[in-house]
Amino acid sequence: MTTRTEQVEGLIARFPHIPREAVLKEDLLRTGIAFDDSALTDNLEGEVKPKSYFIFSFDQKPLKELGNAAVRRPPEEVALTGGPWELRRTIVSVRTNPDSPYRIGRGEAGALQMSLEGRVIADVGLPPMPEYYRHQLANGKTVMETAPTIQWGYLIYLTVLRLCQYFGAKEECQYCDINHNWRQHKQEGRPYTGVKPVEDVLEALAIIDRYDTARASQAYTLTGGSVTSKVDGLAEADFYGRYAQAIEERFPGRWIGKVVAQALPREDVQRYFDYGIRIYHPNYEVWDKRLFEIICPGKERYVGREEWHRRIFDAAEVFGPRYVIPNFVAGVEMARPFGFGTVEEAIASTAEGLNHFMSRGITPRFTTWCPEPSTPLGKDNPNGAPLEYHIRLLEVYRETLEKHGLKPPPGYGVAGAGNAVFSVSSFMDTLSPEVVTEEEAVGAGA
Ligand code: SF4
Repeated sequence: MTTRTEQVEGLIARFPHIPREAVLKEDLLRTGIAFDDSALTDNLEGEVKPKSYFIFSFDQKPLKELGNAAVRRPPEEVALTGGPWELRRTIVSVRTNPDSPYRIGRGEAGALQMSLEGRVIADVGLPPMPEYYRHQLANGKTVMETAPTIQWGYLIYLTVLRLCQYFGAKEECQYCDINHNWRQHKQEGRPYTGVKPVEDVLEALAIIDRYDTARASQAYTLTGGSVTSKVDGLAEADFYGRYAQAIEERFPGRWIGKVVAQALPREDVQRYFDYGIRIYHPNYEVWDKRLFEIICPGKERYVGREEWHRRIFDAAEVFGPRYVIPNFVAGVEMARPFGFGTVEEAIASTAEGLNHFMSRGITPRFTTWCPEPSTPLGKDNPNGAPLEYHIRLLEVYRETLEKHGLKPPPGYGVAGAGNAVFSVSSFMDTLSPEVVTEEEAVGAGA
């Protein structure tokens, strides 16, 4: 049995071309972080930006097992620097796990530090409370609940539907806790709006626009669960489309508009583009055909894998291939009992999917799987995928991108270790620094 420290240092040594910051970040995302009380926030009353629970729980334990972290929220993200590995500034989304070997607390001098198995490995910076979180909507709702920002303030995350109509074991994606997360927040009496009224979203955005004087917020993502019948009398494309239309009418071009939705028919996608949305994420989740059918049974049943992929290419003709960025959940292809048994097989399959899209100019991206305990895959795999899988994925992702002459995808800020703000995987930390101008990021479509 090797210690976690030995595992991490062993991989840093074996993969010297992958930034050590990315190795650590992947391990933190799949494992979670324990917090001393002294490292928790004072929720919206303090100086540190709290974790907003912007869509999924992204915790490795249920709320009721988080101890004080369920009462005083942990920070939304942390910025790690220094330590024995001389880390460049690394932004990591917070996934809470009281049993994690990674812990954040205060050192003797009072400064926050991260330790691994008791040894200090990094200095910790916390996101300051943004001014716009200190203001409420006229109806008393908070900006944090209505329009939270992540990625160190770069991205406004608009989960306008906090439930998914894929319901139960035969439909829900097997790694996803969106419905469970909604239930646990409601049970705890937290404000957690199922369907966000358009007017609330516009009001929250107006507050952000007014108080984000440094213009740190550069993009918004419009998303939520899948709609298989109707919400507010509207089918999925119309439901999300009404927000896109309202936002772009009220704040034309103020932020880069992105939509994460199912792979929709071309005419619906065209409407999003016409409203002013510039980046579309029809997430394909996992590449392998057999695993897609098992892991995403609702998507397979209602749309089907082949049709999903075909619609990704249709969307590329509307937005331009560079602006269609389908996500996959890195690691679920190794989840027991159905996943690949070896890292080699899992990487070979994932690489096939990357080649399929990148050879046509479409740049997928990935989030690192968080094995949430209320999900079927999380229950069976509390430790997630092997860390080596995640590191080899970073390697093959960068190689494939370079092989096809592509640049880092737009809408994620600047790439490179020490620069990246994308906090739920380290793909941006691993790519070469490349300044993506706003003009290029919003593009002109096809
Ligand atoms: S489609 Fe799948 S991943 Fe998306 S919210 Fe529904 S269950 Fe979750």
